[in-house]
Amino acid sequence: MKGLNLCLLCLMSFVFTTCTSETDIKQAKASASTEAERPPYTIAIHGGAGTILKANMTDEKEKQYLDALNKALDIGEGILKEGGTSLDAIVETIKYMEDVPLFNAGKGAVFTNAERNELDASIMDGKTQNAGAVGGVTIVRHPITAARAVMEQSDHVMLTGTGAEEFALKVGLDTVSNDYFYTERRFQSLQRIKAEENQQTGFLNEREPHKYGTVGCVALDKDGNIAAGTSTGGMTNKRFNRIGDSPIIGAGSYANNATCAISSTGHGEYFIRYVVAHDISARMEYKGESLAKAADYVINYKLKKAGGSGGVIALDANGNVAMPFNTEGMYRAYAKPTERVVQIYK
Ligand code: ASP
Repeated sequence: MKGLNLCLLCLMSFVFTTCTSETDIKQAKASASTEAERPPYTIAIHGGAGTILKANMTDEKEKQYLDALNKALDIGEGILKEGGTSLDAIVETIKYMEDVPLFNAGKGAVFTNAERNELDASIMDGKTQNAGAVGGVTIVRHPITAARAVMEQSDHVMLTGTGAEEFALKVGLDTVSNDYFYTERRFQSLQRIKAEENQQTGFLNEREPHKYGTVGCVALDKDGNIAAGTSTGGMTNKRFNRIGDSPIIGAGSYANNATCAISSTGHGEYFIRYVVAHDISARMEYKGESLAKAADYVINYKLKKAGGSGGVIALDANGNVAMPFNTEGMYRAYAKPTERVVQIYK
């Protein structure tokens, strides 16, 4: 009798759980765009997540970030409006962000323990699921262009260090001396961490509170193709050729027309271990979850529970956008033909 009751209880809880999640999915689907309503284009960008508080921001600094985010969106949106591809929009948008010293990518990248800049980037095409990435490059002005070149002009997905640089030179990318990436602000951050490290045992990779300034872009073009790209200097005071999640396909970037395009920012080691970008895609593919539900679960539940801080920008092939983060803020923005949102804080 006891056994029968237990079975009944299990059955009821199974029916209840199934109904709840199905209702959730139906509700999420109801608020999401469908294929028929797909906008001609959508673009979303991020400039890093972290302890970004209004209280610590001057009006002038805030304006600089908002202007840069708007300008980056203008570039990508302009390409998509003209009928350009999602890949072109992503590369041009990220190239601009790599030139803005406010962000931790290209010029303005953080310093390694050896006081130089080592850059990582990746790109993925949701239509073909081709991908390219570079890790630890020190002379490529726009690492995102190197990631695209690896995808389109090599048989490989990821090249690193001097080999990646040799390849960049061979395919004629814009190169600079490592000094080009120097900014006083990032150099001073490194000095502060080093001073702190001297008083502690063990390695310090970032100062608390964390601030991540990686850049990323996801886009949907008129043909319904989505893509994702990410570029970063990694984490301040990194050493031993540390490479984070940004150039790892499935962690820092992922794109699949059948599910979503994702670009991540945050504590890379956690994004790699939890395969964050692919996990969001897998939840959509295997569980039928909406973009919003899958992205929110992975960032605000799974990653957060594990102690991983950061966020993602996410886009599906119907132009739905989600930008969840579990930190105080994330520089983020998106644009569609009739909508533009640019935000920093929670
Ligand atoms: N995810 C990057 C890394 O760990 C850092 C960032 O997002 O700023 O290298």
